[in-house]
Amino acid sequence: MNADHLYQAGLLLLEVLVVAGLLLLFFRLRSRFGIAPLCMTIGAYQQMQAGLAATLYVQVAPTIFISPGSSVLFTATLMVTLLVYIRDDAAKTQMLIVGIVAANLTLALFVWLVSMHLDSPGATLSKDFSSEYLMADLWPLISGTALLSLEVILIIIAYEFFFRLFPRLLFFRIALALCSVVVLDTVLFVTAVFYGDDAYLNILRSALIGKLVASLLCAAIMTAYLYLVPAPSRTAAKGDQRLRDIFHILTYRQRYEQLKDKFARDPLTGLFNRGFFDENLPLEFARALRLGHHINVMLIDLDHFKEINDNHGHQVGDIVIQTMASSMQEVFRTADIPCRYGGEEFVVIMPDSTTMGALHAAERLRRRFREHCSELDLPMPVESITFTAGIASYPHDAQTPDDLLRVADERLYAGKRAGRDRVMIGEQALTDSQSISVL
Ligand code: GH3
Ligand code: MG
Ligand code: MG
Repeated sequence: MNADHLYQAGLLLLEVLVVAGLLLLFFRLRSRFGIAPLCMTIGAYQQMQAGLAATLYVQVAPTIFISPGSSVLFTATLMVTLLVYIRDDAAKTQMLIVGIVAANLTLALFVWLVSMHLDSPGATLSKDFSSEYLMADLWPLISGTALLSLEVILIIIAYEFFFRLFPRLLFFRIALALCSVVVLDTVLFVTAVFYGDDAYLNILRSALIGKLVASLLCAAIMTAYLYLVPAPSRTAAKGDQRLRDIFHILTYRQRYEQLKDKFARDPLTGLFNRGFFDENLPLEFARALRLGHHINVMLIDLDHFKEINDNHGHQVGDIVIQTMASSMQEVFRTADIPCRYGGEEFVVIMPDSTTMGALHAAERLRRRFREHCSELDLPMPVESITFTAGIASYPHDAQTPDDLLRVADERLYAGKRAGRDRVMIGEQALTDSQSISVL
């Protein structure tokens, strides 16, 4: 990569930031000016994108040529469509799609009519303009419009799909939705146009690199926007106005996500609840199966908790439960899913972790829980506040999600019978490492 390549790559980066930034600004201002500035800007980009894709490629590495039209404008258009869907609703997205299609088809029709002037006597032409030049843009415009209208629908389907897989990771689901659609678009488009050409693979690679980098940047910018810029709210004077604003403040998709999150949480601890666990264990298990990864389930039960309630009251019991929950939030990885199973019982889904990894996490939890309890000035000795846990692993211990939970439960109760305050794993796992013993 030489200085020229760096300069071109830097310009492309700047273009992504400017285009995505302006689209987000127009989106943000929609409560003031309506959605027209956004729609018209995207409409104008379509023509520019088709024109640039046919004419301009910039070199950013010895064998990589990027089209600013395809990588920047196309990706930014997809990004803003997804943003409209997340912050507004499907009906607004549909409006945007219909607007793009209508504008492009009208433009294509007009280009075709104008080209007829040029084919007949009586039209004055500038010397470097011809009907071929005009028509060259026509088919990319029509096929591009057809592809784009399909892809803006696909990006919503992809987002919904990744939402199920990564309900808590906004950036991941935006990035994966954008990347999967641009990959599909690039493969279809480049294969249709260049298949059989000697440079086919090189063109495909360049196009993929350009659009994937732009997608990741757009996903990062959009995630930052969603976190940093709240949905617009207006202070209302009248009652009915206030009611309208309540619906305006949080828009459908986002409201749905927030409500879904609220219903998935346990109010006392803020951990995911039993319903969320029941829904997600089979999904995470299926994912582990598909990817050939390990997965662990850890069931945790506070020891002699009834005595804490009976001797010191339910409020103290609640504090201990909350302390356990906050310790869990701190010690588990972001990929882990800690849930309150019920009462003083907790369960953690630990995707892609080995039994030893889970055992280490349990040990970290034991230490953190004890630290937090000792900071609290509780009316009983911290040594008396303990928990027992059972860990089960796929593929060692079980082959179905139900069995995984059953084995974890059996181990938890074996731990209770063996005297409590311990973490139980399978014998097989223990023989995997001599340095670790059951707590
Ligand atoms: P073991 O060591 O065998 O688990 O004994 P335990 O006393 O913990 O057993 P058990 O499961 O019978 O007791 C659980 C108690 O937890 C009973 C119930 O009153 C109490 N509990 C359940 N939910 C809550 C809650 O939200 N707050 C409080 N303070 N107590 C709760
Ligand atoms: Mg219990
Ligand atoms: Mg208990």
